[in-house]
Formats: sequence, C-alpha cells, structure tokens
Amino acid sequence: SKWVYSFGNGKAEGRADMKNLLGGKGANLAEMSNLGIAVPAGFTITTEVCTAFYDNDHAYPAGLTDQVVTALARVEEIMGARFGDANNPLLVSVRSGARASMPGMMDTVLNLGLNDQTVQGLIKQSGDARFAYDSYRRFIQMFSDVVLGVEHYHFEEILENHKEDKGLSLDTELGADDWKLLVERFKAKVQQELGKPFPENPEEQLWAAVGAVFGSWMNQRAITYRRLNDIPQEWGTAVTVQSMVFGNMGDDCATGVCFSRDPSTGENTFYGEYLVNAQGEDVVAGIRTPQQISIAGKEKNASALPAMEEVMPGLYKELVATRDVLEAHYRDMQDMEFTIQGGKLWMLQTRTGKRTAGAALRIAVEMAREGIITSDEAILRIDPEALDQLLHPTLDPKAAKIVLTKGLPASPGAASGKVVFSAEVAEDWVQRGEKVILVRIETSPEDIGGMHVSQGILTTRGGMTSHAAVVARGMGTPCVAGAGEIRVDYKAGLFTVGGKTVREGDIITLDGAAGTVMLGAVPTIQPELTGDFGVLMDWADAKRTMKVRANAETPVDAEAAKRFGCEGIGLCRTEHMFFDPRRIINIRRMILASDEAGRRAALAELLPYQRGDFVELFRIMAGLPVTIRLLDPPLHEFLPHTDGEIAEVAAIAGVDESLVRHRASVLSESNPMLGHRGCRLGVTYPEIYEMQARAIFEAALEIAQEVGEAPVPEIMIPLVATKRELDLMKAVVDAAAKAVFAEKGGEVTYSVGTMIELPRAALQAGSIAQTAQFFSFGTNDLTQTTLGLSRDDSASFLETYRVKGIYERDPFASLDVEGVGELVKIAAERGRATRPGLKLGICGEHGGDPQSIAFCQSVGLDYVSCSPYRVPIARLAAAQAAL
Ligand code: ADP
Ligand code: MG
Ligand code: MG
Repeated sequence: SKWVYSFGNGKAEGRADMKNLLGGKGANLAEMSNLGIAVPAGFTITTEVCTAFYDNDHAYPAGLTDQVVTALARVEEIMGARFGDANNPLLVSVRSGARASMPGMMDTVLNLGLNDQTVQGLIKQSGDARFAYDSYRRFIQMFSDVVLGVEHYHFEEILENHKEDKGLSLDTELGADDWKLLVERFKAKVQQELGKPFPENPEEQLWAAVGAVFGSWMNQRAITYRRLNDIPQEWGTAVTVQSMVFGNMGDDCATGVCFSRDPSTGENTFYGEYLVNAQGEDVVAGIRTPQQISIAGKEKNASALPAMEEVMPGLYKELVATRDVLEAHYRDMQDMEFTIQGGKLWMLQTRTGKRTAGAALRIAVEMAREGIITSDEAILRIDPEALDQLLHPTLDPKAAKIVLTKGLPASPGAASGKVVFSAEVAEDWVQRGEKVILVRIETSPEDIGGMHVSQGILTTRGGMTSHAAVVARGMGTPCVAGAGEIRVDYKAGLFTVGGKTVREGDIITLDGAAGTVMLGAVPTIQPELTGDFGVLMDWADAKRTMKVRANAETPVDAEAAKRFGCEGIGLCRTEHMFFDPRRIINIRRMILASDEAGRRAALAELLPYQRGDFVELFRIMAGLPVTIRLLDPPLHEFLPHTDGEIAEVAAIAGVDESLVRHRASVLSESNPMLGHRGCRLGVTYPEIYEMQARAIFEAALEIAQEVGEAPVPEIMIPLVATKRELDLMKAVVDAAAKAVFAEKGGEVTYSVGTMIELPRAALQAGSIAQTAQFFSFGTNDLTQTTLGLSRDDSASFLETYRVKGIYERDPFASLDVEGVGELVKIAAERGRATRPGLKLGICGEHGGDPQSIAFCQSVGLDYVSCSPYRVPIARLAAAQAAL
C-alpha cells in the first residue's frame, strides 16, 4: 500500500479532499503545490500509518521505510541538497497534522538534520555562522523537548546564565561563538539528563521525530483537546516532513501568520502579524511582539512598529495575491503561515480559519452577498451552538469603569470574575462555584483545562495569534491578550499595572472586543439581534419547515423568547407559578386538606393568581399558540417540612397541627418521580385541573376582548400512560370550558393533548391519539423512564459512561436516538395513523440541541420547543436540518 505522498515543485500526489488520509496540513500543502503556490518540497506519511502504529505495538507497516527513502530522495533532487551532507545539507521540519486542526496540541520539530558536520555545510551555504549555530541550538532545544523529553527550561536556564555572565539581555546580541558554545552546553545537558549523547545521525533523528509525532497523538494535551472537541481517537495524525525555509537568515527574511479576513470581527480586510528575521514558532509563542502585516491593521491596533506593507511592499503584494487565490479557491476565510527567505515568499500552511461567532456570521453573510457561496451554504456554515456567544451580554457602555489597562482584543465578549494565576487554581475555584478570570503571562497547551472553565482570559504577552487568543476564540471565551503594561508576580499572587495592585481573588472585568481590562464587576447589556444576525436568521427561517417555540412561563422569559423569534410557547409549566411564597401556602392547604370541600376552598384562593399568570402570558403571546401543561410535579415536593411551615398551614386551614403532620406523613413518598404526580393528580383530585382549566379559559376570553385576537390555548395533560386517563382529564377540561364559555358568553378555540413521556404512552400512541389532539414529546422524562436513569442522580456516573463509550453524549442533553428516538418514531407513526395531521412537538431539553433537532426533522415533528436563549440556535439548527 501507499503510505507516503509527495508534494513540491508545482505538483503533488495528494489533494485538499484527502484530509482523512493526509491530515489537514498535509492535504492543504499538497493542494497549494497543485495550485502552483510556492511550497517547500516534502512528503506526508498518512494517518493510516499512525493507526497501524498503535494497532501493532508501535511498529511501522512494511514498506514504509522504502517509501520514505524514495520520497526523501525526491525532495533532495528538488532542493538540490542532500540530507546529512556535510557540504550542502538538506534540513527538514517534521510536522504533525490531524484531520481537524488541533492548534498547539501536537509538536513540530524544525531544522532537523543538523549535527556537528552538517552545521558546517549550513555555514558554507548561508555564509552566516551565527544563523547556522542559532538554528542548530534551536534544533537541539526542540528535538530534546519534543522527542527526548528533556524539557525546555533546562536550555532556557543555560541561555539565561550565559547572557547574564556576558551582561547581555537580548538574544539578538549573541554572536556565532555564543551560539556555538551554547550548542556544546545544550548537548552536555542532554548527556547529563539522559546518560547518552544527543543523536547526531540525521536518519536516526528523522525516525525518532516521526515516532514522537505519532507518540504525541496520545499525549495528555492531545487527549484533553480531543475530549473537549469530540475528536475520535481513531482518526490518528499524519506526519509531514518538509524541507526547511529560513525566516531567520537576515533582514530580508521573515515569518508570519495571516488571515484572509479579520478573524475577530469578520471584516473583509487582510489581517496578520509577522516578525523580521525570525523562525516560525516565534510569532505564535509570543516571545517577541509581532508587527502588523497591513497598514490598516497597524492603525487599528495602534501599533508603533512599521507594517510589512511598508517594509516589504513587493512581498506584501505577493502575499495579498496569494491570499486572494487561496480564499477564492477554498471559498472560505483562510488562516495561513508563511516564511520569507532571502526575499522569496514560501507558504507553509493554509486552513479554514477559526473565528469568533460574530466573525463567522459576518463572513458567511458577506460571502453569500459577494456570490462566493450561496445563502444555503451560509446557513450551513454557522455552528448553531456558536450563536450562543452572540446572544449573551456585552459591557454597558454607560456604566462607570475603572480601566486598568488595554491589551489586544483577542476574543470578544464581556466577563467578570475573580483573578487567578494558574490553570489548576482556576479549576479548583470553579469547582467550588466561583467565577474566575485566568491571568497568565502567556498560556500554553497545558493550561487548556483551566482556560475552559474560566469566564475570561488575560495574558500579558503574545499577539492576536498567540495560543491564548486562538484557543479563547475557539471556545467563545472573552480574551484580552498581550496586555504588556501588566507585571505579573506569580509567586506573590498579584499583578501590578499603573501603580495599582490586583491580588488573587480580586474581581476584574474583561472586554474582549475592546481589549480593555477593568477593576471590579462592570454591568452588561443585551446583545444586538439585527444586522448580520437578522439577515442570517431570515434566510434560516425561509428554509426551515419546523416551527420553533419556547419553554417559558414567566413574562420575562416569554418576552426574551419573543425577542429571539419564538413562534409560540411549547411548554408553560404551571407548577413554577405555585412555588411563589404567597401561593405555596394555599397549595399546601389544598393538598393537605382531607376532603374535596377543603381542597376547593384552597383552590378558589389560587384561581385569581393562576388566571393572572395566564393573562400576562397570553398578552405577550397574543395570536400565537401557548401550550400549557397542567400540574405535574409530585405532591411530595409541596409538602411542608419545618414546624413553622406546618403551623402556618394548620392556622390558615383552621385545623390541628397534628392533623397536618399526619397528612404530610401519609403523602410523603420514597420515589416521588414515579409517584403521585402528573395526570395522577388530576385523576385523584379533578378539582385541581378544573381550576387550572377555568383560569386558562377566563384569561383567554379576557385577552380576546382586550387584544381583539384570542390566544390559542393548547392544554396538555402530563404523564399519561393510558387512553382512559386522558379521556377522564379531557372531560374535566371540556366541562370547565363549557362552564366558562356559558358564564362569560364567549368562546375561544382550544385543544387538549398529552405529553408522551412514558414508554407505554409511546407504544399506545395509536389509541391515545383517538382522544389527544396533539402530542408533545417530554423527552426529559421519556429519557428517564426509557433508560431507567434518574436525571437527578445520574451525573455522578454518566461521565464514566461517556468516557467508556456507553453513551456517546449525555442522553439528557442530546437525544438517545437509538432508544428514546425509536419510541418517538413509533409514537409519531402510530399517532398519525389514528389521526392524520396530528400535531407533534418536543418540549424536553433536547428541543434546543442541534443534533436532536435534526432527529426531530427526520421523524416529521411540527415544532421544537426550547429555553428562550436557545431559540435562535434552534431556528438555525432547524434550517440546517431541512436543507
Ligand atoms: P502548528 O500545527 O503548531 O502550527 P506547524 O507544523 O505549523 O505547527 O509548525 C510550527 C511553526 O514552524 C509554524 O510557524 C510553521 O510555519 C513553521 N514551520 C514548519 N515547517 C517549516 C519549514 N519547513 N520551514 C520553515 N518553517 C516551518
Ligand atoms: Mg501551523
Ligand atoms: Mg415530564
């Protein structure tokens, strides 16, 4: 089989669509070669080799060695240099690349092939001993760290000591002799740490580096990143071996990272950073503050350093042309790496750029308008979950702010929290319920866990493409990067800026869109839902076939849901209205009453409150359907617990405390979720549902008069298992309607339906649909009852279940399609067989989960209902499901 794919010199064996085999980096290097873009020659060892490597006890498949030798010979021919040659050595980088980009997760080794002989050849070829020894020591450092496991700090320490001895402060002040000496010391360090010498044989170096890349697929950072991003382990990584080009050979050399559009705002301007006389990693590592590529970027970032557009105008034009070719070819915003050696531009990487949610929206909408993509493609390009970032608050511009300093606006959004200085502390504090802002000089992949739990991230070093910035944008976490005025003192647990001291635990606020850092918590305001957001939502609404409703019962939630574009209420939980302290007393009085008269007296007290609730809700939702679920929770939940509560109920009911105590103990349940709840309450105490139905109809008539348009109440009976239960409850509702309509001399249209949340109901849907005028799948309870898994108690072991691959995702967050989904499908089919056109909806948490929404589309539901903040997410997900 073919394990190795070559590229370079204007052609390649691979293509962009071979990401599974060549990894993203390898596939795109091949594609760029085929496009005729200057790419240093190289070859990619496939992901299948990685898989075989792990399947066969870290052994390579037969034939690999030969194929690598052949491919390397081809590179030597193109480059006119020989690997390991003492006169004219070919040097290579060994790069990893998985299918999905995993920034900073896998390690790259540069300048491979250097040893005491070949460094002489490099001096000869470049005429620059300083450059050659600097490259050599970088190689030893990187190779030792990544491949041999001798950590970076050992070498940093040696370097720092040497600079101190010589009274130097900058690396650039060191000469050839310094680096030569440091090479010796670095090698001695390796010998000391490992008890064996640094490998000088280039072939040995190459295979060790290849093995290390494959090995890094299983390092902790990579595993964590895969877990956080749902990347399967089976994918494996490819390894690309590529001839080196040098950005650090003088002032006509440079290296940089750029985006075809601004990844932060989405604006169609060329955005990027670069460093003169530097090697690849220097820009990303945040060691030196990079310069802007364009003059516009320089102005926007108030940078004092000259832009590439000014320093190297010719090469800048060439880079812009390459950007245009790549963006047009890939039809999406590109994130590119380049290096300039001796005035020649080389492209080293291109990929679809990560972007903020706001940028994603703007880019999709603008590209559709520019005719680069269709509006359907624009809809499909936006991750519905990412919209979440746009639906949350930003800083109130009118609020008073104590601005401490300004850094780069690395990832938008406003966040407040307590200052912590390490990823571990962040995780600890968040565990105990704190909100934190992670403050670091710079971040590295080891910090990923702590970054994930933080409200915001602040770094004092590094640019817009630094690790912190890239990762934060990916996570949608606000980030201010490179706030250079801040002095962090990790040991003392504080930072200082402008004469102020901020200690661990003090609250600060970040504005990731402006790059400002503020003292204390600054108030925030609601997001803007017009502009690009509105445009994309309009496109989505035109494509989707399912309606989107909201689960809401309070006016605040209902208003929010309407702002977010809901088309009615899919679930109004009436019990939430009862927990109000002024009302619960009457609920208690009702459930503790020993006869119907006692219950009716208490319910009469509740009626006006309940009617008032519905009036408010109907007013907001005038003309839209509102599904109201009659009382559902276990009576148990309303029981009084304290002596005070018992005395209070006894007093209001005019009975003895001991009687109340006795009733409470009779009603107490050991398994309330399977106990006296749902329609079982209505069956035993029909007067409860009667009161609720009455309140609904009275309110509906009131609003019909007030607004001139009647709401459409859909009265929903919970936890039905049999047709007979629903028949009884429907009779209660119909009777209440009849009574109210007669009393008030008016009528409203209404329907009575049921939740399908028990397996028996799903299976008997055909008979239940004889009575039910609609079904709403209550998938929270349906999951609980189908899986026999308590929603309230399963958190402790569900993570283990996920890790062991039993359930891929939390079944309460994303619908278990195989099990629960099967019941939904059966119920939909059987229900509609009885009653064609039966209205079907879903009102569990799953109604706001994009994957579950796609499933709902596939079984033909009429609508999904979700929490108000997820309404836009559901609208977009429903459009994607329909396309
Ligand atoms: P990452 O996935 O972490 O970005 P890369 O493989 O892209 O790792 O390499 C890290 C840095 O080294 C990048 O800046 C890249 O441009 C640079 N680099 C990689 N290969 C070469 C090469 N052959 N010549 C010059 N620079 C290189
Ligand atoms: Mg890269
Ligand atoms: Mg339920």
